[in-house]
Amino acid sequence: MSVDSIFSSPLGPPVCEKDAKALQFIEEMTQNADAVQRKVLAEILNQNAQAEYLKRFNIDGIMDRDTFKSVIPIITYEDLQPLIQRIANGDHSPILSSHPISEFLTSSGTSAGERKLMPTIKEELDRRQLLYSLLMPVMNLYVKGLDKGKGLYFLFVKSETKTPGGLLARPVLTSYYKSEHFKTRPYDPYNVYTSPNEAILCPDSFQSMYTQMLCGLYEREEVLRVGAVFASGLLRAIRFLQLNWPQLTHDIRTGSLNPKVTDPSIQECMARVLRPDPDLADFIAKECAKENWKGIITRVWPNTKYLDVIVTGAMAQYIPTLDYYSGGLPLACTMYASSECYFGLNLTPMSKPSQVSYTIMPNMAYFEFLPHDPNSSVHASKLVDLVNVEIGKEYELVITTYAGLCRYRVGDILRVTGFYNSAPQFHFVRRRNVLLTIDSDKTDEAELQKAVENASQLLHEFNSSVAEYTSYADTNTIPGHYVMYWELLVKDSSNFPSEKVLSQCCLVMEESLNSVYRQCRVADNSIGPLEIRVVKSGTFEELMDYAISRGASINQYKVPRCVSFTPIMELLDSRVISVHFSPSLPHWTPERCR
Ligand code: AMP
Repeated sequence: MSVDSIFSSPLGPPVCEKDAKALQFIEEMTQNADAVQRKVLAEILNQNAQAEYLKRFNIDGIMDRDTFKSVIPIITYEDLQPLIQRIANGDHSPILSSHPISEFLTSSGTSAGERKLMPTIKEELDRRQLLYSLLMPVMNLYVKGLDKGKGLYFLFVKSETKTPGGLLARPVLTSYYKSEHFKTRPYDPYNVYTSPNEAILCPDSFQSMYTQMLCGLYEREEVLRVGAVFASGLLRAIRFLQLNWPQLTHDIRTGSLNPKVTDPSIQECMARVLRPDPDLADFIAKECAKENWKGIITRVWPNTKYLDVIVTGAMAQYIPTLDYYSGGLPLACTMYASSECYFGLNLTPMSKPSQVSYTIMPNMAYFEFLPHDPNSSVHASKLVDLVNVEIGKEYELVITTYAGLCRYRVGDILRVTGFYNSAPQFHFVRRRNVLLTIDSDKTDEAELQKAVENASQLLHEFNSSVAEYTSYADTNTIPGHYVMYWELLVKDSSNFPSEKVLSQCCLVMEESLNSVYRQCRVADNSIGPLEIRVVKSGTFEELMDYAISRGASINQYKVPRCVSFTPIMELLDSRVISVHFSPSLPHWTPERCR
């Protein structure tokens, strides 16, 4: 029996029986989105009815949406923080979920400077796995022959800690890569990676990256797709190649392993991979030694059909650089997910980044949508169900999950672009309250303000202060870094703050930023040293004049705390009188402060 006769999906003809099943699942879920949502909510309420949180609202036995919506409040992480702290401290009673909390997933979103802790339950892993299992069947509709080669994916685990009560706290992908779902995944010819599990699971980021790159270089002809989770991660890998190709090609030439790779399980598995290949080493060394790295990805991996990286949302800032290194290969954004919940997937993954829309899968959680109006307060009555969102409108995502988050504001702003069957499709607009981001860090206005205040204390001895400031996420460098433009109020011009103190100000700012920023700086090396550019006195007045000339109201004008518009950047850069960088790394340890 041919695959087509088993099931021919409206999405396209599946390439194998497994794909046919996955595509059929997508059809069923999206055709019956509202019914699935009703079932999901009933299941969640049923499952967690005896948990302390839901018991507060006396809805035992009431499973309908209207009662749920009229009784349960819309909340943020801060509202749940005391309950989450109790779970973290070892309270095993059913607090949010009736099922035992299996671990905490540490979000890249922070609260009071620390990663948010998202409680999760065992069965959520199956739900995540289910969403992953839909990605290749959709991709196979658009890119043929992916079973004829491999994927070079740079995947990493990060450090994990234990809460005072003994629960593991780690990022969701670390949890997934360390799970049996990933480690003992069955062979799938459409989803073969060049990176061995031993390399992905190595907690030392240098050894992990080195090994993954080495394996990718050995199999350069087999590689059909190159990827990482986010665009910033793939660029980090390119930078790594730039810095380490002499040693990598030495290893390939001689068939030996860099002595810096000391992890015994990597050494053991690489013993099976390593072989002297002087021709390959010569080729790679010749390409890497060229000054011009334009198109390096397709030069080194000539059969790459697309890059698999998320370039929507904040990651859009990396598109030009990726285009440069890949010679304009298609960029596939396949899924939309978070520590709280995996949301959905892109049903047309080869669409241009600006046109990417994610279809939320109604089986993942119960979804509601808060019409996004920055000027109005939150009204529960305004929340809209998944199937009732309107094309063209923007909403903030609110979720109710099996793990016990109830009407929880994720913080993502989404715009409806259309529907697939009855399931809406969303363009990711932005995350609420994020001013600066380079990698997974998210710095808001209040954090930046506090950091400036802390740093400006150092200027007191020079009888000076920061009169005005703004910031910029500079992604022209790899890794990218934060740039601060400071206009100083210097009372005694013969006592201008010294270079030493201004570079110290950079470090104090970094010390003041949240733990995700500092982890990116220290452990991941994905953010470069913070830079302060001191501008001439009067620059911010010119900035205001410029804004007013473009129609801003003089009464309402506020200094933008982050800039990216080219004419403004040019104005600021033309007024720079000195430039200072953080002289060392800020403090960071995996341990939480609270
Ligand atoms: P985390 O909680 O650290 O896992 O981060 C999850 C957040 O990353 C989401 O809430 C989004 O803000 C962002 N994110 C995840 N997937 C995408 C995507 N495909 N496009 C844009 N932003 C995304």
